[in-house]
Amino acid sequence: EGGAEGDHVAFYSQDMNQGMQERMRIESGLRHALGNGELLLHYQPKFCIDNGKIIGAEALVRWRHPVRGLVPPAEFIPLAEATGLVVQVGEWVLEAACAQAKQWKDAGLPPIRLAVNVSAREFTSALPGRVQDTLTRYGLEPSWLELEITESTLMHNIDRVIGIMDRITALGVTLSLDDFGTGYSSLSYLKRFPIDTLKIDRSFTIGIPGDANDCAIANTIISIAQQLKHKVIAEGVETVEQLAFLKNSGCDEVQGYLFSRPLEAEAFEEALRENWTP
Ligand code: C2E
Ligand code: CA
Ligand code: CA
Ligand code: CA
Repeated sequence: EGGAEGDHVAFYSQDMNQGMQERMRIESGLRHALGNGELLLHYQPKFCIDNGKIIGAEALVRWRHPVRGLVPPAEFIPLAEATGLVVQVGEWVLEAACAQAKQWKDAGLPPIRLAVNVSAREFTSALPGRVQDTLTRYGLEPSWLELEITESTLMHNIDRVIGIMDRITALGVTLSLDDFGTGYSSLSYLKRFPIDTLKIDRSFTIGIPGDANDCAIANTIISIAQQLKHKVIAEGVETVEQLAFLKNSGCDEVQGYLFSRPLEAEAFEEALRENWTP
């Protein structure tokens, strides 16, 4: 029996070893990807719930891997967060998003707000300066840019985080609180955050309208947003029933497969042009 247990341990450590090798393989691949132009952004439109117009987009990173094809962020962002490489990924994303926004602006497209996801590890005192510098280099109005931060960002040193947020909003860049309700940020802090928009997480949208709890949570988030004078957007909207419920509840904006999947830059530009044709 001792042998069987030994085998078990041996298999286990072999698995660990493989897991580690896989991580190292992805990490060095990602480093290479950063320098080699293998990352790209897709853009998922955000819509005004009242008039159905595109009011913005969320930039979502992908990795065009030479062998594995288009790799979704779920397969490399968590690892990049664990290793710290997400800081470089984030720098690339901000740069690419601003370059794209500038291009759309110069092409005469209607002004929209382009949202970039910022992970907790990027949310340092260096971020406001980097944002300012990037906007200046591209000659881009700050109103074109939004940063989506998650609740986990807010769980660290709260006064420090609020200081960084204040510096970012002072630039004219807006902040939205992503995946709202999935973290642990205290409601007493919420009023101190200089945020523009609360984002209802897909895990709540998904149960609307059948699940009474998800409906109650969505309504509560909408009500908190309204009372704190924030806008509120629901992500992951896939059905007309969800849309009807959210509209009736006073949600301001929607994003999801019902309207559009994340699009390549050209396809998004096309959608934006069509959307604004009188
Ligand atoms: P997220 O910020 O919550 O982004 C929303 C995710 O939901 C996106 O997945 C989007 O494609 C997907 N989605 C949108 N509408 C629907 C829908 O109606 N149904 C379903 N089933 N899914 C929908 P994606 O692009 O795979 O991104 C996953 C996550 O990866 C993001 O979640 C975000 O946490 C992270 N991520 C993506 N891009 C970046 C980035 O540039 N930087 C950082 N730090 N994280 C990123
Ligand atoms: Ca997001
Ligand atoms: Ca989200
Ligand atoms: Ca989410």
